[in-house]
Amino acid sequence: MNFLEERILQDGIIKQGNILKIDSFLNHQIDIDIMRQIAYELKRRFKGVEVNKVLTVEASGIAIATMLANLYDVPVVFAKKNETANSTDDKYVSQAFSFTNKKQNNFFISRPYLQATDKVLIVDDFLADGQAVHALIDLVNQAEAKVAGIGIAVEKGFQQGGRMLREEGYNLESIAIVESMDWETQTIRFLEQPITIQDDGNLKLSLVW
Ligand code: 5GP
Repeated sequence: MNFLEERILQDGIIKQGNILKIDSFLNHQIDIDIMRQIAYELKRRFKGVEVNKVLTVEASGIAIATMLANLYDVPVVFAKKNETANSTDDKYVSQAFSFTNKKQNNFFISRPYLQATDKVLIVDDFLADGQAVHALIDLVNQAEAKVAGIGIAVEKGFQQGGRMLREEGYNLESIAIVESMDWETQTIRFLEQPITIQDDGNLKLSLVW
């Protein structure tokens, strides 16, 4: 079991409607040590992949994206969901249905922050049906930039997003993949991720799909 799976078992709360609540370390209070470990693990999994921008969507993706972008020393761009008085008209727009809020959200990014030369690593806290990630991919495509990879903290493997993205050929890495969870018994099972030995002799986890 990896560090994130252990932390989910320790602190996660399963809510009715297939929602995993991890507010104590990711979605409300942010545990910097776990964020740091997520960032290092994603960087390791995307070893050799060229990245010059990390892209996420507000709000919870920003913490992970920032820690990861710090390791690459590249900018973070986050798609905004809400129009504000200083929103520009010069923007890319896409839509995603929110799994948690059950409403359609507009995602938008001001055009100057995504360029055709960008190699974008998309990051988010959760992957469920893949709506949020598909909207981010759409924004990257509108800018004629390239999706370098998709890094997720928690994938709910019993929902369709991960399967769809892998079938579409994206380089998707999820640190914890929930195979099943049950709110009545508060039990959760993770997809086992094979352990392989790294060159330096340290144990590493890598996903073979
Ligand atoms: P998707 O767009 O893949 O259906 O859902 C992913 C988005 O919905 C994530 O950005 C995340 O904010 C939210 N989400 C989906 N499932 C869960 C969940 O079980 N727990 C939490 N905290 N957020 C979730």
